[in-house]
Amino acid sequence: MRIFDPHIHMTSRTTDDYEAMHAAGVRALVEPAFWLGQPRTSVGSFTDYFDALIGWERFRAAQFGIRHHCAIALNPKEANDPRCAEVLDVLPRYLAKDGVVAVGEIGFDSMTPEEDEAFARQLELAVRHDLPALVHTPHRDKAAGTARTLDLVRESGLPPERVVVDHLNEMTVRAVAESGCWMGFSIYPDTKMDEVRMVALLTEYGTERVLVNSAADWGRSDPLKTHKTGVAMLAAGFDEDDVDRVLWRNPVEFYGQSGRLALDEPEASPTFEGNSILRGGS
Ligand SMILES: [Zn+2]
Repeated sequence: MRIFDPHIHMTSRTTDDYEAMHAAGVRALVEPAFWLGQPRTSVGSFTDYFDALIGWERFRAAQFGIRHHCAIALNPKEANDPRCAEVLDVLPRYLAKDGVVAVGEIGFDSMTPEEDEAFARQLELAVRHDLPALVHTPHRDKAAGTARTLDLVRESGLPPERVVVDHLNEMTVRAVAESGCWMGFSIYPDTKMDEVRMVALLTEYGTERVLVNSAADWGRSDPLKTHKTGVAMLAAGFDEDDVDRVLWRNPVEFYGQSGRLALDEPEASPTFEGNSILRGGS
């Protein structure tokens, strides 16, 4: 099984996770910029984080044979903090870089006017930089949040095939399927979707325009949920080609629209700016 995890926050994960992911078949991933839990208080915290996504984390993934790409954005939650507003001005510099394959994650957290403004401005950046967009849907008031999300996408002029609307469930999938946008599903241990419900949705909606991710981060989550979904698909009667389509060819098709995917075996250079992942000799 070859796997491309289209949404995972490796910055929050360990080297054990990288090893287990590679053993399970993960060969490529996209790490979207997101909220770190602790509120950031200045634009400098963001630029250091964006630089780490493009530099250090890509280097770290390569040590384990995994191709790392990222999406860059001001996340929905921190769009509400006036100290972070300036981040929107530095984004164009990052969106021009190799390894940046989308604008994201953007979207709504609490659906405030500030989020509305940041979301619309960043959809505009996706149009201007000719990049796809990764859109997070809120965990509360999901149906209204998804409807408002699809309105903003329509108003932005970004073609629906260049947008993935993520964290969907049984309540929100239909509207997104009908919009022409890609449907993203995060498979979590306790909340949101699980593998069995995911397989039921694949049976109902088919495998086209569907992305399955682990969305693993610093919270309770599992970086092997993509693999576990593949196993559940096979057990339910899907064949290897269906699994390959959902777990590899779909994310390649979606993020390939950036023109910046690199999918060959990564070169594992021993150091990054003089630092390695080793802790002394063995
Ligand atoms: Zn995320």
